[in-house]
Amino acid sequence: MASLDQGLSVPIAASAAGSLDRFDFVRKLEYFPSRVQAVLDRRLSDAISTVYLDVNTDICNHACPFCDGYYRQLKAAEIPWSRLETLVDEMKELGVLSLVIAGDRGEPFLHSKFRHLLVKLNASGIRYGIYTNGTCVKESYLEPLRGASFIRVSADAARPATHQKMHGYPASQHDFETVLRNVELLSALVPDLGVSFILDAPNVEEIDEAADAFLSRHARFIEYKPKYSPGYGVDSEWLRRHARMIRAQLDRAIARWGERVQLNPQIPRLLDGGEAPSLAVAPRFCRTSLLRLVISTHGCYTCTPYRGEAERRVGSILEQSLRDVVESAERRALDEHPCSRQCAYHRQNEYLLQLEAGTAAVPPRQTPGGPQDYFV
Ligand code: SF4
Repeated sequence: MASLDQGLSVPIAASAAGSLDRFDFVRKLEYFPSRVQAVLDRRLSDAISTVYLDVNTDICNHACPFCDGYYRQLKAAEIPWSRLETLVDEMKELGVLSLVIAGDRGEPFLHSKFRHLLVKLNASGIRYGIYTNGTCVKESYLEPLRGASFIRVSADAARPATHQKMHGYPASQHDFETVLRNVELLSALVPDLGVSFILDAPNVEEIDEAADAFLSRHARFIEYKPKYSPGYGVDSEWLRRHARMIRAQLDRAIARWGERVQLNPQIPRLLDGGEAPSLAVAPRFCRTSLLRLVISTHGCYTCTPYRGEAERRVGSILEQSLRDVVESAERRALDEHPCSRQCAYHRQNEYLLQLEAGTAAVPPRQTPGGPQDYFV
């Protein structure tokens, strides 16, 4: 066991560094100090930087039980093309830097006008990334997809039967072969294509096999993550029981593929027998969400952890302009409503609160290095 730990510790640190860099949302503020100042001044239309756009809801060819919409009551819908078209113009007018395209329990590639959206975004200059299951890529999407900054493919298996079980679709679909083929196809078009792999009972023996399957098809990286249950809990006990087997496979994958194997920062801690860190914190004000907005068919929300919750619903893009939602009284009122959740932007929020209190200084402007730097 000791030698196993030793063997794993160096590569884990190296691999986690690459992963963490993408999520260093404090550092990213150095590229956009004017947005930081806009947050501090509450100039909401000047602060909005990254939009999360669920182009559809409950329209998916898979039914993954780890999808964060799996347990919610949702009504199938998509944002009509006529609204998406004007929305891109409005994002450009407000100076939105980046867009993350996804679905709320929806597969974005199944939007009826997905190609139109890609073409429109490519002309707009707004950087965009896509979250997908990688199985619904039409031939006509390939050329416009060259404009994407990144694609993340949820894959979660190395064998067809496991993929079908993890993603909950009929065995007749043969989607694992499709995802393998599409990862190879899209990796040639979009340099930042990453595969995500949620650790769970059905796939626990396929960890290094999945790294081989996807990295040999030129995915830039594979990222292993714990499975979150509703309320963002993690089954630490299951991970502890299987730690030896998981470590051995991660060790083999890292030995073969180096930093292209990335670990969610919680994984090493959980495998070492630690508890998943609590996602509740002492209530504090939220400033970080002023940089972002989540847009879904059923409403707009401050941030992804509150997607679908009335508490932080701030308008409807089907009935209002983007500027009206961003400047809405509901969104401004949340300034005074503390939040006790710990999200991916917790450190960025702490930093913004320090700036507000005058205990830190607005960072000097740095030049963004790559497309990921625009996803603040
Ligand atoms: S979870 Fe809370 S702190 Fe994080 S962005 Fe949402 S409201 Fe802000």
